[in-house]
Amino acid sequence: MPELPEVETIRSQLSHYLPFKIDSVATTPGLKQNILHTDLPIKDKTIIEIRRKGKMLDFVFEDGSHLLSHLGMTGTWLVGETITSTKHTHLTLKNKTHTLAYDDPRRFGHMYYYSAEQAEKKLAELGTDLAQIELKELTESIKRYPDRALKVTLLDQKLFAGSGNYIANEICARAGIRPTRKCSKVKGEEFPKILKAIKDVLEPALKSGGTTFQGGYRDSTGERGQGVQHLVVFYQKICQMCKKTKVKKIILAQRGTYYCPHCQK
Ligand SMILES: [Zn+2]
Repeated sequence: MPELPEVETIRSQLSHYLPFKIDSVATTPGLKQNILHTDLPIKDKTIIEIRRKGKMLDFVFEDGSHLLSHLGMTGTWLVGETITSTKHTHLTLKNKTHTLAYDDPRRFGHMYYYSAEQAEKKLAELGTDLAQIELKELTESIKRYPDRALKVTLLDQKLFAGSGNYIANEICARAGIRPTRKCSKVKGEEFPKILKAIKDVLEPALKSGGTTFQGGYRDSTGERGQGVQHLVVFYQKICQMCKKTKVKKIILAQRGTYYCPHCQK
């Protein structure tokens, strides 16, 4: 699933093509059935900015309206002078020179065309963007559900918008805390370590254009992200922090969870 670094990579790549005046709009029946939850009166409108909060892309039009796009499991936006469209290309927007298209094989993505006010309300459902969070809020957020496992809280989009399974695993690893540790057992000196771990996980992933696992995420040019080389426990056999301990894999809240029994307490 695309997480913060992958969505940010797409946002930044698409932003090079702005402003984008939409001369034509083509959709598939699958768009209305599974992905788009509103009408889509965007023909002749111009996209002037693309923002992001957590994993939600926010296309802003010149008239103040918004198209919010969540990529779900397999969604991506492609852009080019021409793009290779497939049966999974559910929305195709063209201007005079380029095509901007939403592709989503599994159709778990969602999209909303909203007024400024509606968009603001929808985005307010998300917590602070993981890349923007500061120590005070991080500490309060972790203390909010004392009985939850730390990793489960790190996945809560109302608290840490933009995190996802690989990010949460890697944050726990770099903070030296087991993903299963209860939030009530996180010690005072560990909160700054978690904050540092967030930065240490996000920065290289962002620089690498996101992280791709087996046949997953593609950026707006169809390329895989290279961030996988920075992972220390996720999908690893040997912990890349101590370079000697076998990574343990468990299932926590239905998600594959990885940790180093030596480095994480
Ligand atoms: Zn280790």
